[in-house]
Amino acid sequence: MPSLPTEQSAALFERAAKVIPGGVSSPVRAFRAVGGTPVFIRSAAGAYVTDVDGNEYVDLVGSWGPMLLGHAHPEVLDAVARAARQGTSFGAPTGAEVELAEEIIARTPVEQVRLVNSGTEATMSALRLARGATGRDKVIKFEGCYHGHVDSLLVAAGSGAATLGHPSSPGVTEATTADTIVCAYNDRASVERAFAEHGDEIACVIAEAAAGNMGVVPPMEADGENFTAFLARTAHAHGALLITDEVMTGFRVSRSGQWGLDGQHGDLMTFGKVMGGGFPAAAFGGRADLMQQLSPVGPVYQAGTLSGNPVATAAGLTTLRLATDEVYAQIDRNAALLRAEVGKALDAFQVPHVIQHSGNLFSVFFTPQGVTAVPDWSVAATQRQDVFAAFFHGLLDNGVYLGPSCFEAWFLSAAHDDAAMDRILEALPKAAAAAR
Ligand code: PLP
Repeated sequence: MPSLPTEQSAALFERAAKVIPGGVSSPVRAFRAVGGTPVFIRSAAGAYVTDVDGNEYVDLVGSWGPMLLGHAHPEVLDAVARAARQGTSFGAPTGAEVELAEEIIARTPVEQVRLVNSGTEATMSALRLARGATGRDKVIKFEGCYHGHVDSLLVAAGSGAATLGHPSSPGVTEATTADTIVCAYNDRASVERAFAEHGDEIACVIAEAAAGNMGVVPPMEADGENFTAFLARTAHAHGALLITDEVMTGFRVSRSGQWGLDGQHGDLMTFGKVMGGGFPAAAFGGRADLMQQLSPVGPVYQAGTLSGNPVATAAGLTTLRLATDEVYAQIDRNAALLRAEVGKALDAFQVPHVIQHSGNLFSVFFTPQGVTAVPDWSVAATQRQDVFAAFFHGLLDNGVYLGPSCFEAWFLSAAHDDAAMDRILEALPKAAAAAR
């Protein structure tokens, strides 16, 4: 299959590698797992990104989730420009951050929120608050779930850590992770064992509301109870809290995130990605009695020079206001179409796979023959990375930009219209043939 020209990306990558480790500002942007030169992006509009060599791709990365409305949405750009003209950062309260907090609270079960700059900060702060509020130290997290690069949560993490094969990270001390208990997602017995052993030391359980960083693994039902509901019930029975991490699912899988789909939520919740509309904005929130324990009301300290930044806040608020039910309905429809067509294309070339989704968030697992479901990391990790790499390059060479890792979700936007979808559908059989 002829490759697209990549000379300019290659030249930039060579320069980048001299001044930035691995040539990238975040590891999973590198093509380590799939081989080849990372595509350097020059510009983006709607459903498309254009690289520095002039190749245009239908984008299925969407900046790893934030771009729900597509790139460079005119109304978001106008709001950003208006906000920036009025000053880019004050380090003092603004009306816009109140409006963003109100919008988040209107869409979710949280009673109060605090704005931060990244999903990592949101989970780090929620964890500190859970520990401060309970006076306990230990935390349960799940293998394959990623909550950002928070030291104590960078154990058996998904996303780039999984892609690059880091079970944990050097630099994260043993003492830091001594209080982290790792359980298997959707495996109730592993959680019950942890509580049986450490019940009164556990401050909280943190789980992705639907796992999206080992590929998409929704919380499973057993005996009529959803896995997240089980986590809440079990944590509460032991005086512990539940944090549901909706950084990826929030305001994406529905206007109210995963909670809008299954009605399950933690005592604390974390948000990011879509709520920043492509700018650094994130939040954590929850019950008012817990949130009131944060400084300056309570003793749990948390702060940020740029938190609630007016430009990021304007982008996020405008994005959320434009994210109507119709937007979600369109993305849901296109996601269902794409899941079906990917399945058909891979079946036609007898490429074994499993496709899983939570609402419009989905991923394709290139599992070995005979695997029919992926409930946790132990199965997600069996994927054939070489097959994924061939499929990935098959898409790339045919003008479709997918995340360069088999552990990442596929992100659609409201800007993926029929023309963009057709381009993906045309590329699929060629990519499936390459993966055969
Ligand atoms: N939590 C989840 C579920 C995520 O998917 C991510 C990022 O992918 C994070 C937290 C960390 O967010 P950020 O990269 O903004 O720090």
